[in-house]
Amino acid sequence: MKAQPQASHFIDGDYVEDTAGTVIESIYPATGEVIARLHAATPAIIEKAIASAKRAQKEWASWSPAARGRVLKKAAEIMRARNRELSELETLDTGKPIQETIVADPTSGADSFEFFGGIIATAMNGSQIPLGGDWAYTKRVPLGVVVGIGAWNYPQQIACWKGAPALAAGNAIVFKPSEVTPLGALKIAEILIEAGAPKGVYNVIQGDRETGPLLVSHPDVAKVSLTGSVPTGRKVAGAAASQLKHVTMELGGKSPIVVFDDADIDSAISGAMLGNFYSTGQVCSNGTRVFVHKAIKETFLTRLKARTEAIVIGDPQDEATQMGPMVSLAQRDKVLSYIDKGKAEGATLVTGGGIPNSVTGEGFYIQPTVFADVTDDMTIAREEIFGPVMCVLDFEDEAEVIARANATEFGLSAGVFTADFSRAHRVVDQLEAGTLWINTYNLCPVEIPFGGSKQSGFGRENSAAALEHYSELKTVYVGMGKCEAPY
Ligand code: NAD
Repeated sequence: MKAQPQASHFIDGDYVEDTAGTVIESIYPATGEVIARLHAATPAIIEKAIASAKRAQKEWASWSPAARGRVLKKAAEIMRARNRELSELETLDTGKPIQETIVADPTSGADSFEFFGGIIATAMNGSQIPLGGDWAYTKRVPLGVVVGIGAWNYPQQIACWKGAPALAAGNAIVFKPSEVTPLGALKIAEILIEAGAPKGVYNVIQGDRETGPLLVSHPDVAKVSLTGSVPTGRKVAGAAASQLKHVTMELGGKSPIVVFDDADIDSAISGAMLGNFYSTGQVCSNGTRVFVHKAIKETFLTRLKARTEAIVIGDPQDEATQMGPMVSLAQRDKVLSYIDKGKAEGATLVTGGGIPNSVTGEGFYIQPTVFADVTDDMTIAREEIFGPVMCVLDFEDEAEVIARANATEFGLSAGVFTADFSRAHRVVDQLEAGTLWINTYNLCPVEIPFGGSKQSGFGRENSAAALEHYSELKTVYVGMGKCEAPY
């Protein structure tokens, strides 16, 4: 098999197998072919992974932050040196075109290890608080064993975005990738060992929605960081809350992009296309509700249609391909059913709407699709589709569009395109979202915090802010005189 790893799990510095676990087939989305066969973790594997993390964390936390940082920076260097190989694996795992994975996946993971490896030597500092004669100091300390649970759209990136800040802060992690994309995280675990990380600080176990709860409820786990859908987030946050565990929730969205009539139209179309079609539309922060001012609607739609129809769909391993298949047959069926709802509920199909004729075979391909005349009450305007389906809605008034953009339970991201900078800042100030863009869309460099508000989650990934979610403050009061008591 094309991408069969040595074994299903990576625990305590080595590959481990337990064939008693349910079989997980890794399917190459471009052909439907099974490229690897793995096993979900059994309770014995889960115990082994958590015990290994628990033991390793004590030693790892005793290293100086600078020494931990050196390991992470080395891991970044190895990932960059192996970018091609890792990107090819990511393409097999997800079906995303090599044109994307080569610039967006292992490189983003490497950025994360480099960034947290670099800042950690100064970022774990506490403070000294004078209290007259007495004084106090604070220390920033790791939480212990962290569980990371990933979605299938960015398997290597998610494994690094959770692993890098967790490890930098002195935690150990047990990471469970999505059962749909089980391959990439194993390579990250291997690379960390090669970079000098102690055995057991970064473990990977495979599993599905039956396995996740066993990790979340384990008494030795201090924190859970999930990237997934809102319904899963509710379950995981609920289970974690019942044991008062720390959580980070990176969940779904239905984000708005607002295009005012003074915007650079081609730039706004680029933003809307990036925010709907990149990774075949399987991006949580996508701006899937594109509010376009009525005065520029016709021009916007004409140019958008031409550019959408020119997207090169095909073999993800071909450097010229701009859009690959969806990750799975189930996900494609789900997206096609939303497209049917859009048609049935009266939206105007501008382009796409089905399976492309240009590709043959068993791959899970779908056409990039644009609907116009979408109204706020339509299903396609309310629910997260998680595929390449752009909904264009009309508006005329600033206050009206802000209210409509905010009329959703989600609050992950938002974007504004306008030439008027005071309007841009005024509008983003009122949009309810965790990450917002002005005159661009979906750029997430490691330096800036990323995460959602409302039902899209809480906690932040990336930037120094992420470290606050993987550590806690310890306060020490120092009495300099005699301890007085009234009795
Ligand atoms: P999902 O919620 O179905 O699964 C996510 C992960 O949770 C998988 O690893 C799954 O095995 C696990 N899981 C499922 N039920 C569980 C449970 N009860 N307890 C513990 N673990 C459980 O999501 P998906 O379909 O893999 O990914 C798509 C979703 O992820 C979309 O909603 C998307 O918006 C979201 N997403 C969010 C971000 C972000 O950063 N905000 C990034 C990528 C994807």
